[in-house]
Amino acid sequence: MHCPFCQHEDTRVIDSRLADDGATVRRRRECPQCSERFNTFETAELKLPAIVKSGERRESFDERKLRTSFERALQKRPVASHDVDAAVRAVIDDLRKSGEREVPSRHVGELVMRELKKLDQVAYVRFASVYRKFEDVHAFREEIEKLERDLPGLDNLQLSLLGEAGAVAAAKRGHRKG
Ligand SMILES: [Zn+2]
Repeated sequence: MHCPFCQHEDTRVIDSRLADDGATVRRRRECPQCSERFNTFETAELKLPAIVKSGERRESFDERKLRTSFERALQKRPVASHDVDAAVRAVIDDLRKSGEREVPSRHVGELVMRELKKLDQVAYVRFASVYRKFEDVHAFREEIEKLERDLPGLDNLQLSLLGEAGAVAAAKRGHRKG
């Protein structure tokens, strides 16, 4: 490559080593004309599919938005940040491996739900209730009941954290709280 200092047309690699656990190659280069040295970093270009929102609107994948979805659902929940990182990575890996040029945002939402279900039941229900835009309390209650069958241990304490909708759903099931 060209020298960024004097624009000489060729530079020499004087050292090459792996960085980031092998995900990056770091090269030390030297310009034969001005003798300046600089580093270059080489990483694989892995394209993620574009996200198709409702109404055919497309936007490029945004890792920050994905992370925000997780963080919002996991607010005040006892989940370690490295577990959140792993969940974000799992979703990104899945999207990358899909090899698709575009995926519906709904699909990303399903992947987030899958990861949240493994991480924290309350966060999962929080996300699912907003994401699936339950049309009424009945639909919400059905989801909670389904979840309780799938995930034993979801108790009223957790339900109470879900806010109004959860409290209504719990009350209708006869679990009134003092
Ligand atoms: Zn130079």
